[in-house]
Order: sequence, then structure tokens, then C-alpha cells
Amino acid sequence: MSQPVDTAVSAVRTYIAQHRVAFLDDLTEWLRIPSVSAQPDHAPDVRHSADWLAAKLKETGFPTAEVWPTPGAPAVYAEWPSADPEAPTVLVYGHHDVQPAAREDGWDSEPFEPVVRDGRLYARGAADDKGQVFFHTLGVRAHLATTGRTTPAVHLKLLIEGEEESGSPHFRALVEQHADRLTADAVIVSDTGMWSEDTPTVCTGMRGLAECEIRLYGPDQDIHSGSFGGAVPNPATAVARLVAALHDEHARVAIPGFYDGVVELTDRERELFAELPFDEDQWLRTAKSHGTRGEAGYSTLERVWARPTAEVNGIGGGYQGPGSKTIIPSSAMVKLSFRLVAGQDPEHVREAVGAWVPGQLPDGIRHEISFSPATRPCLTPLDHPALQSVVRAMGRAFDTPVRFTREGGSGPAADLQDVLGAPVLFLGISVPSDGWHAPDEKVDLDLLLKGVETSAYLWGDLAEHWRHAP
Ligand SMILES: [Zn+2]
Repeated sequence: MSQPVDTAVSAVRTYIAQHRVAFLDDLTEWLRIPSVSAQPDHAPDVRHSADWLAAKLKETGFPTAEVWPTPGAPAVYAEWPSADPEAPTVLVYGHHDVQPAAREDGWDSEPFEPVVRDGRLYARGAADDKGQVFFHTLGVRAHLATTGRTTPAVHLKLLIEGEEESGSPHFRALVEQHADRLTADAVIVSDTGMWSEDTPTVCTGMRGLAECEIRLYGPDQDIHSGSFGGAVPNPATAVARLVAALHDEHARVAIPGFYDGVVELTDRERELFAELPFDEDQWLRTAKSHGTRGEAGYSTLERVWARPTAEVNGIGGGYQGPGSKTIIPSSAMVKLSFRLVAGQDPEHVREAVGAWVPGQLPDGIRHEISFSPATRPCLTPLDHPALQSVVRAMGRAFDTPVRFTREGGSGPAADLQDVLGAPVLFLGISVPSDGWHAPDEKVDLDLLLKGVETSAYLWGDLAEHWRHAP
């Protein structure tokens, strides 16, 4: 049963309906700019996209809208202070760069010529992430127009980066550089999705990521397996044993100290996850896997969203060409990645891995471990007042109860949490079929406008329920 529509809701819906065409025209114009951050020949387009957005945010009413350069592609920062000094400060995060796309990748229409078919807008960036950034522009206008305000109910800030699709190489430094201007009580990330068209969800956290490459060295060169085999250690055997020792028989990571600090799922979260309409067969088809496997005692969703992992991403060593080559190889390697959950410290994980590896190796095998920069996990408790506001705003827009998910992947939002010390909340209206990074990326126009509507309710709700401590 949906709730009766209250007058505030009908005012917001009327406003959105009146401004829908202009909103979509503007979004279409932005989507025409091929802001592909990964391709150097599109660097001018990424800059153009940043300039376009900054100008549009000014037009929307943001008194401050600036393009922030980085050693790579620029970000856009905008700020609209509330007249209410005690209002909370909210920072919206998204990105204006997009994945590469070409018609011949299998698109039914040109990726940078947006078209609407069956109520869906097809274009690269429609869902990831221009559409989801842009819904906040009409959202804040609807918030003001329908409440009679001249400034938002919260101090509103936007940080829209230009290198997310290239791994955000300069994002953390950018956030550190501008930390004094970016201070916020909460960060709202609009670069995620929800469960499905019928099941709006709010994501409460993302896993972190630590990655390393381990190289094992045996003889100083490849040596004859007849002359020496059986009497010297083989690095390829050693790497296989190392990998085999990574998990115990319950598929738990066997590295001592790995689970230190892990925030366990609460009973309430497990109940809520279990209530989601999860179809494991469908999920397996999406995974293109032929079976499930994971840590004993957890459901598939719990494993992906709330449990840390160790995965082998690549392994090699020795002769891999045609025919045979009877050698003991001089080296072998493995690339490992660890998904981390709230409470885990990447630095501690790195130390635990470093301390564990030598004990797994026979005498005569030397090793080197190199770690890539890590991404921290983030998690906002279900009872956090800002999360409750997001849930209420989304519930009003969608006329249906909002459920909770988490995200198994990792993202630069964690840097905002880290540097600014603010909780990160995720508000996205994209659905799994939107084709992120794939041909025929699209966004459903009704859902996009629900995003506008959610944004329109959110700022007032936050200000009402989450006053600044004096
Ligand atoms: Zn994205």
C-alpha cells in the first residue's frame, strides 16, 4: 500500500513535471561531450565537460562553482551555503568523466548522441555518472521552489571529479589540498545503483581493497630438471603451495591477523539482506560462474557485501609455450587482491601478509612483495540520522519502503571519509541493467526523475532531523 500523497509531495512532483523537458535537454547536451578520461585525445573534452558543469551549476543558483585542476583531469566544486548557520553540511560526490565508448562496440546508437527509446535515455554516462550527478541540480531547485526558500536547508557542496573512470589517481591529493573547503558532516555519493526498478535501496557501505604482487625466486636462472630436479626448491611449486595455503577448508582466509577488527554483520542487517528478492540462479548467470563458493556460514550476498576476501588475480612462472621445456624455473609470481570490510586497516593487512609469506616458503626461495595503494572500506550504521534521512526521502519519492544493500566493490568515496572524517552515504537510482561500462548504457527516465525527487526531499529532511550540535 502506498501512502496518500501529501501536499509537499504533489508540489515537488508538479515542479519536476514542469521542468522535466529543460532538465533532459541540459543533460543531453552534457552527455554529448565525450569526457573519456582514459583516452588522452579526449582530454579537451574532459575539460570542456568540467567547464560546462561549472557554468550549469552557476545557472542552477550555486553562488560558487569552480573548476579545480589536478595533474590529470579537472574536478568541479560547487557550494551553496544555507542561510541557517546551524544546518548540517552535506557534500555530494560524483564524477563527470565516462568510460570509453564506440558505436562498433555493439551500441545500437551513437554513444555520444543521446537518444530516448521506450522511456530510457541511451548514452555513455547516462547512468554512470552524469545522469546521477545531474538529478541533484533539478532536485535542489525543486527543494527551493516548493519550500519558498532562497537557500538550501543544508549547506550544500558538490565535488564532481574527472578521473574516476581512470582510477582516481589524483583524487586523494585533491581532497587533501582542499580539505578546509570540503569539510562536511556527511558525504552523499551519487555514483551507485539500487536493487531494481521495484526495490529501491540505499547502499550503506563499500568494501576496501588492498593488492599485492608476490615474486618468488629460486635458482639464478632456469635450470635443467634432469640434472637438478628433485634436489633444489622450485619457485613454481612454492607459489602453488603459497596460494593453496591462503584459505582454510572453510574458505576463510588463513593469514593470521587478517580478520583483526572486522565489523561483523548485525542480526538486523542479516535479516534485511535476507529479505531482498535475491535470485541466486540469476545472480550466477550474471556472474557467468558455474557455482557458488565462499566463506562457510555466510550467504552469497553476505560474502560479497560484508566479508573480507583474498583472491588470486593471476599466477605464473616457468615455461608456458608450446611443447615441453624440462626446467626448474628461476622465478614465479602471483597477484593477490584483498577486499576489506569496515574495521580492517589496510596497513595492518599489508603487515599481516608480509609476515605470513616467508613462513610458507621453503629454504632457498627468496621473495619480494610489492603493494599498490590501498582503498579503505566504508560503512555507515543503519541508525545513522543522515542515513535515515536518505531512506525517508527515497521512500517518499518511490512511494515504497526502502531496503538496504552494500557494495562489494571499492571506490574513491573512501578517501572522502578518510580525509574529511565524515560518514559516507550512497544515493543512486541506477539499476543493474543500465549497462555501466558496457554498450547501450542507459538510464530509465522515470527513475532519474525519482532521483530528482529524492534530492528535493533530502535537504529539508536532513536539516529537520539532524541539527548541528551547538
Ligand atoms: Zn561511476
